[in-house]
Amino acid sequence: MKEINLYNTLSKKVEPFVSNEAGKVKMYTCGPTVYHFAHIGNLRSYIMEDVLEKTFRYAGYNVKRVMNITDVGHLSSDADSGEDKMLMGAKREHKTVMEIAAFYRKAFFDDCDKLNIKTPDVVEPATNCIDEFIEMIQKLLDTGYAYTAGGNVYFDTGKLKTYYVLSNQKEEELMVGAREDVEEDANKKNKTDFVLWFTKSKFDDQELKWESPWGIGYPGWHIECSAISIKHLGEQLDIHCGGIDNVFPHHTNEIAQSEAYLGHKWCNYWFHVLHLNDSTGKMSKSKGDFLTVPLLEQKGYSPLVYRMFCLQSHYRKPLVFNYDVLDNAKVAYEKLVKKTASLAREGELEQEKMAVYQEEFAKALGNDINTSQALTVVYDVLKAQMNDASKRALIEEFDSVLSLDMTKEALENKADESLAAYVEDMIEQRKEARKNKDFARADAIREELLQKGIEIKDTREGTTWSVLS
Ligand SMILES: [Zn+2]
Repeated sequence: MKEINLYNTLSKKVEPFVSNEAGKVKMYTCGPTVYHFAHIGNLRSYIMEDVLEKTFRYAGYNVKRVMNITDVGHLSSDADSGEDKMLMGAKREHKTVMEIAAFYRKAFFDDCDKLNIKTPDVVEPATNCIDEFIEMIQKLLDTGYAYTAGGNVYFDTGKLKTYYVLSNQKEEELMVGAREDVEEDANKKNKTDFVLWFTKSKFDDQELKWESPWGIGYPGWHIECSAISIKHLGEQLDIHCGGIDNVFPHHTNEIAQSEAYLGHKWCNYWFHVLHLNDSTGKMSKSKGDFLTVPLLEQKGYSPLVYRMFCLQSHYRKPLVFNYDVLDNAKVAYEKLVKKTASLAREGELEQEKMAVYQEEFAKALGNDINTSQALTVVYDVLKAQMNDASKRALIEEFDSVLSLDMTKEALENKADESLAAYVEDMIEQRKEARKNKDFARADAIREELLQKGIEIKDTREGTTWSVLS
């Protein structure tokens, strides 16, 4: 098994990955809050986490990956204040919360499919796990880590020796980032305390509520991930992933409540993907262009161009998005696919030569998921002194991690289809022009096609066309 070195937010350094159980990886990912479309900045995290999972698989690990779907409890501020995001979505679109959840959950997985992001082994909506949340909260109350106040149940961060295990930033700075529109909640004993169960909110009432020992209400956002992870992956988690904005308060709170509940260390590695920024700063749903996968498609970009764009940079560097850099990725991607698609299939594999590149590729990914270095290995393969069949086999193998469809001729076929549709349309227009005795227009069409390298011929069977070489 190849060594995988990863930056661990917990230790703040790159370290060799060692799993709890030999050969197995238990991996948890914070899923989307399904109240709106995902913007491409959110999807950067999911792309890089997909590469991480596939790197483990490539290295021979048996991976079990779990992701939640947040369909209740996530408020407009991550620090438990503001309005419930699901309810905001429902009001915006005059639908029920469950309709909103179903619609945006499907939209999220449609985006993932287009980006070749594998669906995790377990996908669990929060609303499926209310019993687990209640059980966990009850134990936290019983052991003195939680308290009730003003109708809500809070986690008592004052009970912990260390609360800020994931970050060495100052408390004040952290609170600013989490607070957007926060008003101090008078029920809290410590200002970092967070809600485990709500029965009271100053905003409009939740549509979705459940009975609990503390009254009819709904769970907080943070408890969802801890309970869902423990439900499906047990008490020892190998790796937990998310966007960098989840470090505080969300992941910090997850660690606090999980370890208080379990009574021991919970997760060994924390993997965080940096932001995608646009020209205005951090990308968000509320300002500037709302950049989504369908919008990129409308503008003529294959979603895999965006995946390529993400892979060209390291996940721990902030990435700046604009259409010029995406155009560069598009040119690079189309060239790459064209080259790999033209590689011949027949021929004996040159195993010895291939092994050198397999080694290089594994080394690149094992070097803290260095995807741009891994892409360089792909280019090295294309330039190598090796037969086509070996090159194709290698690139197909690497694509099990990169997932860029490099050897599928899909792109070329698509280009061919749209060309054919265009030419047929022009021929039809020319026929119409000739019927109307508009020979100038008919000649202009023939000329236009010729300039694009397409020759048409009028035969007894009709007009045929060919691409000039
Ligand atoms: Zn989470």
